[in-house]
Amino acid sequence: MSEQDFQPETLAIRAGTQRTEFGEHSEALFLTSSFTFESAAQAARRFSEQEPGNIYARFTNPTVTMFEDRLAALEGAEKCVATASGMSAILACVMGLLKAGDHIVASQSLFGATVNLFSNIIGKFGVETTFVPATDLAQWQAAIKPNTRLFFLETPSNPLTEISDIAAIAALAKNAGAWLAVDNCFCTPILQRPLELGADLVIHSATKYLDGQGRVLGGAVLGSKVLLAPVYGFLRTAGPTMSAFNAWVFLKGMETLKIRMEAHSANALALARWLEVQPQVARVFYPGLPSHPQHDLAMRQQKLGGGIVSFELKGGKDAAWHLIDSTRMLSITANLGDTRTTITHPASTTHGRISPEARVAAGVSDGLVRIAVGLEAVADIRADLARGL
Ligand SMILES: *Cc1c(COP(=O)(O)O)cnc(C)c1O
Repeated sequence: MSEQDFQPETLAIRAGTQRTEFGEHSEALFLTSSFTFESAAQAARRFSEQEPGNIYARFTNPTVTMFEDRLAALEGAEKCVATASGMSAILACVMGLLKAGDHIVASQSLFGATVNLFSNIIGKFGVETTFVPATDLAQWQAAIKPNTRLFFLETPSNPLTEISDIAAIAALAKNAGAWLAVDNCFCTPILQRPLELGADLVIHSATKYLDGQGRVLGGAVLGSKVLLAPVYGFLRTAGPTMSAFNAWVFLKGMETLKIRMEAHSANALALARWLEVQPQVARVFYPGLPSHPQHDLAMRQQKLGGGIVSFELKGGKDAAWHLIDSTRMLSITANLGDTRTTITHPASTTHGRISPEARVAAGVSDGLVRIAVGLEAVADIRADLARGL
C-alpha cells in the first residue's frame, strides 16, 4: 500500500515520517544549524547539488522536510516549502514568481497584513495589485491586464466568510496566463483542497489550525516542483525559513487535524445557529448556515463550514466592545485556529491599520465581532457570550 492510497487522517499522522538509525517512533527534532560531510569531495558534491542531502538549516532540515512532505501529501501537491510564518509564505511566493512590472489581481477580502503587503510593500518594488470583490467573477475578469501574472484569494475570507469560487477563478486565471494562489488557512486540506479545483499554489499560515494549539508561527507554499523552485530559491537565499522546533510542533499538531477540524466545524455551526436567533444580532456570517449567500457553493467546495463565525451586532462598536469585555472564558485575541475560543473586534484590531474606505469596501463594520470557535463545550461558549448580549 503506498502513501497515496491513504485517507487524509492517516496521511496527517503517517506521511513524511523519516526515522533515524535509533528507530524513534515519534519524529525526531533536529536542532542543528549545519550538517557535516564525510570528506571535502562530499561537501563539494552537496554544494553543487550533484548529491542530495542537508547542508545548512536555511536550505533544509530533516524535521522541516518531514513537515513539508506531510503537508504536501495532504494537499495533493508535488512540492511544499515551509516558511517562518504565513506572511513569509506569501512574500516568498511574490518574490520568487513575480518581477517589477507584473500585476496581481487579488480578492479585497484578504487577511489585513496581506492587503498591506500587496498595497504598501511590494507596490514599492513595481508590482501593482488590483483588488476585486471576492465573489464577483465579472470583476475578476475585468481586472485582468496584459501583465497580470498572479491571482490571489482566501476562502472563506476573514472575517466575513465570503466564498470565492476556486474552480471558476482558476479558469479565469488560466485563460489570462496567470497563476492562482489560494490561502487555505481557514479550511486546511481536511476541508478543502484547492489544487484539485484548479489552483496552482496553496498558501498556509501553519500558525493557525495546523498547530491547532496557538504555540508557534509557521507557513508553507505548495504547488508543482517547477513553480516552487524559484520560491524555494528566494527562501534559501533570503532566509525566512521554518525553524526545526516549529516544524516539530506542527508535525505533532497535524496528527489530530482531522478530528479537530470536524469538532471546530460542529461547534461553530451550533454557535452560529444560536447567534442567528439572538435579538441583538443583526446578521451572522457562517458558510455552514443555509442563510449564507453562498451556502451551496461552500458545501460543494469544502467538506464542512470551518471554525470561524462572524456576526454583526445591532448596537455597533459599543455593543461589540461590551460583548467582548463581558466574556470571562473566551480569549480576547486576534489569533485563530486554537483549541481555545477567541473573540476579536476586526475593525479595531486585524483590520485597524487599513484605511476606513478599504474597511468599508471589505464589509468590516464597527459592529462586527469575529469568533474563532475552539473545542470547549459549545454550551460554555454560548453562556460566556450570553452575558454580554
Ligand atoms: C494569520 C493569517 C495569515 C498570516 O499568517 P502568520 O503565520 O501570522 O504570518 C495569512 N492568511 C490568513 C488567512 C491568516 O489567518
